[in-house]
Amino acid sequence: MPFPTLSPELPADLPRLRITDVEVHVLLAPDYDESFTSSAQDSVVVVIHTDGGVSGLGETDANPWIVKSCITAQGTHTMGLCLRDMLIGADPFRIGDLWKKMYLGTAMNGRRGMVVHAMGAIDMALWDLCGKALDLPVHALLGGAVRDRITPYASLQPAGHRFEEYRDALVASALQAKERGFRAIKSEVTMNGPYAHGGMSESWDRHTEVVAAVRKAVGPDMTLMVDVQYMWPDAASCLSVVRDWAEFDLFFLETPVWSDNLHDIARLAAEAPMKIAFGEWLATRWEFEELMDRGGVQVAQPDVGRVGGLGEAKIVCDMAAERGRIIVPHCWKTGISVSATAHLAFAVPHCAFIEYLPPQLCVERLRRELAAEDLVLAPDGTIPLPTKPGFGFEVDWAAVERYRVA
Ligand SMILES: [Mg+2]
Repeated sequence: MPFPTLSPELPADLPRLRITDVEVHVLLAPDYDESFTSSAQDSVVVVIHTDGGVSGLGETDANPWIVKSCITAQGTHTMGLCLRDMLIGADPFRIGDLWKKMYLGTAMNGRRGMVVHAMGAIDMALWDLCGKALDLPVHALLGGAVRDRITPYASLQPAGHRFEEYRDALVASALQAKERGFRAIKSEVTMNGPYAHGGMSESWDRHTEVVAAVRKAVGPDMTLMVDVQYMWPDAASCLSVVRDWAEFDLFFLETPVWSDNLHDIARLAAEAPMKIAFGEWLATRWEFEELMDRGGVQVAQPDVGRVGGLGEAKIVCDMAAERGRIIVPHCWKTGISVSATAHLAFAVPHCAFIEYLPPQLCVERLRRELAAEDLVLAPDGTIPLPTKPGFGFEVDWAAVERYRVA
């Protein structure tokens, strides 16, 4: 076979289990607003059942109806098989073999994009299932935790449609995060470009004003990252602004130009006065290989579901380590994905931060209500090692029923 895959580190005396069913639930917040940038207004939850009564759950950050089709659509030939059918009857502990089987069996439909994002939810559910079957937290199956604490960063949430409202909301949100004990924050600063907040169209100078206001509010000791959501048309226009941002001491600048524009990404990685971060949309190790080797980014941001699952995310982390790059995973979903991301981070020494907000601080109801994670934000701004089996989250099935639309 042309590529390696990752399987859990397993004890010798495994229980004998076979997969009996794969459920796919499409969830949608009833008050979702298509004009919002937040993908946490929907979710797709995959549940894998076995004949031993143990089941596992996974999730991915992609259109839930399309993911459901990717998993359940009928197969018609050897390069276009049905993902669900390939799993029924299989041994759930052989995750790496199953990943390869699914990847090869959907090559004409997938290889990148949606099918890989859907495989990410399946892979996540298999790791959860294995952990539960063996009564072990998933980080133990990933070779063992390499540290006893990880550091989360708070994603600040903007508001309003006018410049002053937007700036003041981010400053208020930054101060709240500081008060909660966070050591790191990431501010969206997107008042222009394809994903401009609330249809805003502000000058580059005003973006500089927002970054300055947030830095001033939190002081010099807070780690500050900025996400501009693909705002600049090219590297030259980005550099004309961010060359002056050195004084704000940013840990990284996220997605300053279009994700496919590797030439401009490489220029920014070489010339900008801060680290450049990309990767939230990418699927598979091969897209990250291009991002790191041609794009030269200093920070890789795999999303555990979208990249193809926990195994694929870990492979990306190992590739980043070989290249001396930092990992800061993307995660903007429910407690299922948040938990999977945290378990990965405990097994990856060069994972600097994870994206994390306590559920009660999130505006998204699916994040607040669907699954409670086994993660605690300690007063010192870190998260101690979770110990429950699998990914350790508790799903509220009444919430699944409440928001299920397909
Ligand atoms: Mg982002």
